[in-house]
Amino acid sequence: MFDCDSIIKMKDLIKEHIYDIVIIFVILLAVLILYIFNDKSDIRADRMKISVNGEEVYDVSLGEFVTYELSSEYGTNKVTVTSEGVYMSYSSCKNHNCMNEGTVAYHGQTIICLPNRVVVELYNSSGGSIDALAY
Ligand SMILES: [Zn+2]
Repeated sequence: MFDCDSIIKMKDLIKEHIYDIVIIFVILLAVLILYIFNDKSDIRADRMKISVNGEEVYDVSLGEFVTYELSSEYGTNKVTVTSEGVYMSYSSCKNHNCMNEGTVAYHGQTIICLPNRVVVELYNSSGGSIDALAY
C-alpha cells in the first residue's frame, strides 16, 4: 500500500531528524519568549524625567498636559505633554533635531537635545514590567 509506505517513510524521516526538529522548535520558542519579555516598547510611559547637563530637574507624571520650560546657560527648551505623548515644542538649539524627533509616548523612549544638554526620558513607574500590560 503506497499510502502506508509513505507514512512509514515520513515517520522514519521524522525519527532521523527528531533532534533537528526539537532544536528548531526550542530556538523558535526561546526567540518568542525573549521577544515578549524584552520588547517593552509597547508599554506606555506614565512619567518622565528631564535633565539638563546631567542634572535632573523634573521627575513628573504625564497625567498633566502642560509645557515645561527649561532655561540654562546652554539654551532654552520647552517640553510639552499632551494626551498623545511628549514632544519638544521649542528649542533654541541650531539643528532642531530634538524638535524633529516628534512625539514619544512609550517606556524607554527619549528626546535628546545635544546642544542644550537636555535629556527627556519617558518611563513607566511600574518599571515597564510585563504586569503593566494588564491594566
Ligand atoms: Zn535641540
